[in-house]
Amino acid sequence: MAAPAVQVDCGLKPKEKIRPAEAVGNADKSAEPAPDARISSALGILPGGWQTFFEEIGEPRYRAVQAFESLHKHGLAHWNDALTMPESLRRLLSEKAPIKRMAPSNALTSDDGTVKLLFEPEDDAVIESVIIPTKYGPALCVSSQIGCPVGCLFCQTGQMGLLRSLTADEIVSQFYAAEKHLSSKIETVILMGMGEPMLNVPNVDTALNILTHKKGRALSAKRITVSTVGYPKRIASLAKLGWKYNLALSLHFTSIELRKKYIPVSVAHHLRDIFYSLEEYHARTKADITLEYILLDGINDTPHDARALAYLSRWGWDDRIGDPAFVSQFFKSGRYRSKPFSRESFKVNLIPFNPISPNAKTISRLAGDRLLCPAEEKMEEFFMQIRKYGARVTLRRPRGRDIGAACGMLGKAGKPERQRSAAKSAQT
Ligand code: SF4
Repeated sequence: MAAPAVQVDCGLKPKEKIRPAEAVGNADKSAEPAPDARISSALGILPGGWQTFFEEIGEPRYRAVQAFESLHKHGLAHWNDALTMPESLRRLLSEKAPIKRMAPSNALTSDDGTVKLLFEPEDDAVIESVIIPTKYGPALCVSSQIGCPVGCLFCQTGQMGLLRSLTADEIVSQFYAAEKHLSSKIETVILMGMGEPMLNVPNVDTALNILTHKKGRALSAKRITVSTVGYPKRIASLAKLGWKYNLALSLHFTSIELRKKYIPVSVAHHLRDIFYSLEEYHARTKADITLEYILLDGINDTPHDARALAYLSRWGWDDRIGDPAFVSQFFKSGRYRSKPFSRESFKVNLIPFNPISPNAKTISRLAGDRLLCPAEEKMEEFFMQIRKYGARVTLRRPRGRDIGAACGMLGKAGKPERQRSAAKSAQT
């Protein structure tokens, strides 16, 4: 009997499995591309997938855990080294489920210690991941796609368009390569690299299930953060599916009009619905929610923005949020001291804008707006104002600017010419 190719298993109970057409496709009409569930390496397979595989070739069930542990607990690089398995089985596995651990083709180190790893898979594109040293140990910023279809005007990756979504094993592989590069463990993972994770849910879900699996690397879900520009139905469906990961909303604007201009896909999703879905996610999971806010000089750094951001983080959505008189009156009256919260405050993370090279389409959409980072004092003032109103807020220091690794810069220092031309042909 011919051995079956190993199938994807997202690690959820059958009844709970995400059905792309339901949880991903129909829910958001703007959603694209179609979920990509290719398997190119054994690293992207959960114990359930291994179990099916071994059952079909008449091997005992314990082989599933054996295979999974070999890969994710012991870091097996070649099936030949799996000495607990017979040679014929090792040969079969090498053929049907090869282990492809990506190795970086280049590693750039910043003056501040940030490291950008560049991976070049076989299709001539470049995947970028960033290792950020922090006082709590290294954090890894992982990519979920090559390029990004969202096209934020302030983001270098958005200038590329989408080349393709990453497979689960490519996402997992970035993590192992980073640990190998550092020769130490990484306990914090943020999906804030290239791409929009919510447009690649099946692969992101599988990759995170693998990394948090108790029989494998066993990362804590509490140390994983998934960033998104906000797909309300998808966020709500993930809460129902048992996600426990923290979420970071790329809010960036309190004005709906400005948000539509700078984050083109946000036209399809009202901030009200996004906030309601985050409330639901938080209520079900108790995971942290962060509001990410990139500071653009003279565009989204007004005193009204600071007040509106503080309001949103503590009390959630209000249809009057765009009205400066309402927000200002609310804080002036002191009502904010007594108005109860329905939940713990969302965190606010302020991010200084990092320079990018906008393409022609972005330049025309900007309609004369110049993208600049506000002066240091202005950012401090904005930060202090938010804090004054009781919000939990941090002002991020740019990390890895000199190597194109800071927030919004990925896709710049990889192989820009090659990536741009690949993106162009992917769009035509
Ligand atoms: S900021 Fe995030 S969602 Fe927006 S284009 Fe960049 S990678 Fe995509």
